[in-house]
Amino acid sequence: MKTALITGITGQDGSYLTEHLLAKGYAIHGLVRRASMFNRSRIDHLRSPGDGPGRTPGSQQGTTVAPSDRLVLHYGDLADLTSVRRLLKKVSPNEVYHLAGQSHVGLSFEIPEVTCQENGMATLGLLEAMRDLDYPVRFYHAASSEMFGSPQATPQSEATAFNPVNPYGCAKAFATQLCHVYRNSYGLFACSGIAYNHESPRRGENFVTRKITLAAARIKAGRQAALHLGNLEAQRDWGYAPEYVTAMWQMLQTEKPLDCVLATGRLCSIREFAMAAFKEVGLELKFEGRGEAEVGRRTDTGAVVIRVDPRYYRPADSTHLVGDASLARQTLGWAPKTIGTDVARLMARADWATMSEPGKSQTD
Ligand code: NAP
Ligand code: GDP
Repeated sequence: MKTALITGITGQDGSYLTEHLLAKGYAIHGLVRRASMFNRSRIDHLRSPGDGPGRTPGSQQGTTVAPSDRLVLHYGDLADLTSVRRLLKKVSPNEVYHLAGQSHVGLSFEIPEVTCQENGMATLGLLEAMRDLDYPVRFYHAASSEMFGSPQATPQSEATAFNPVNPYGCAKAFATQLCHVYRNSYGLFACSGIAYNHESPRRGENFVTRKITLAAARIKAGRQAALHLGNLEAQRDWGYAPEYVTAMWQMLQTEKPLDCVLATGRLCSIREFAMAAFKEVGLELKFEGRGEAEVGRRTDTGAVVIRVDPRYYRPADSTHLVGDASLARQTLGWAPKTIGTDVARLMARADWATMSEPGKSQTD
């Protein structure tokens, strides 16, 4: 039985990756940080009954993966690298999936130092800890399209130069370059997945996709009046998270370590995403410019009005981030299926199901 250590196991990707690896028969050790509220809602359904406090009965029902005693959680924190190093020695994983970190690009302007510590320096700390292991380990690093920032080519591939435009992108670029250094200098099997945005019903609520699909469900249910958004013309290459974690695993099964762009190759604007999400729950959308509309008011036609709110504009926004995943297709046979507005519809359906049928959990 293979053993995997996952940092960021309580996050969107960590939860899907855990399901994927459990289904493959892995023993999984997850690093969880201490928080004042239990932060395990995305993986509760995978934990054995009686496995400590904080288990929410029935959470995330509907997935096909049963609770497992092959999943063990350990307290640790990226800000406490001794705990991570100790854990690594204790569980001796064959594969390490490093997904933890401050993952919100917009917030990286507000908390740049934490973002760079967690996404940059902590990755270096992990690489150092793995360098000291006396057996070979395989390492997946969750890199990001944000490293391309204001890209010098479109679509971007593994050969495109990094040109980040925010602290998050800088930190991910730093960590990715260090993975190259540890691969080339110490022979470490270190891979960076250069992932474009991937979403799901488990996406954090302050990412634009989830903010939109939750609002669609809440407005439909009469529980929310307004939706304030920032740049509606921004475009993203949006895929579906469960498909991306498959590629993460595949990257660690190859003969030689490699970096791979993981992307759909298609752009979709915030406007298009919102139209698809609201339509899925039976609501028509009307966009009105800055300051022109009464926020969230339903017009005579019954349409929902979305208000553009400058508070959600960023000091700099990445543009034209669209990936060329040819290498992943050729080497892994990986190809995303759920793209852009498909993701919007799927997420809106899940949020509406939860809203309209209390007790039914958000699954996909
Ligand atoms: P997410 O839902 O925000 O999850 C982040 C995870 O990191 C959570 O488990 C969080 O724990 C944990 N974490 C944060 N700070 C930590 C710390 N100091 N110590 C220990 N754990 C910490 O992010 P995601 O969407 O799953 O993304 C996973 C990774 O892929 C991230 O590194 C992200 O930057 C990267 N990425 C994501 C995308 C995307 O579109 N999703 C695209 C490119 C790259 P809590 O649950 O306690 O907060
Ligand atoms: P990111 O690509 O990782 O930054 O993911 P986000 O979901 O946070 O943002 C995607 C895009 O949506 C960015 O270009 C944002 O500027 C844009 N956007 C527009 N309105 C909003 C909003 O209200 N919240 C967020 N988070 N992003 C918004």
